[in-house]
Amino acid sequence: MKFLSSDRGSETDECSVHTRLRRESKKLTGARREILRVLEKESRPLTNKEIFQLLPIGRCDLATVYRSVQLLEELGVVKKFVFGDGAARFAFIAEGGDSHRHHLVCTQCQKIMEIGECIVRELEERVAARSNFKAVTHRLEFFGVCPACQ
Ligand SMILES: [Zn+2]
Ligand SMILES: [Zn+2]
Repeated sequence: MKFLSSDRGSETDECSVHTRLRRESKKLTGARREILRVLEKESRPLTNKEIFQLLPIGRCDLATVYRSVQLLEELGVVKKFVFGDGAARFAFIAEGGDSHRHHLVCTQCQKIMEIGECIVRELEERVAARSNFKAVTHRLEFFGVCPACQ
């Protein structure tokens, strides 16, 4: 998995998703466009199965969803997240947007909330300063029990 935060400020940020896809000379097929539309609407990351269930019926099969999502991830249009249950989930990365984000996962119903801000940037800087590492990044997810499950 790529650390997308290291891409910040790269030239791809200025291109539209379509340009990014075209540059890779991959056609934005109907299925891929539909998948992007589904992911754009959702603020939480979705599994391949959830994406499949949200697509218009008969649009494509689950295998096509798997392949398309993998391609979109390779192009950096979507980002993969893996939480405690080990399932891969995917979220759309907005144009020029910062792909760095944190999530709060309900341990009872697996509901996922996005936490808007990164609260450990300072810690990251401290780790970098102490270790002399550069381009230090991190992955951090939170777990708890959501209001509906309490
Ligand atoms: Zn819950
Ligand atoms: Zn963070």
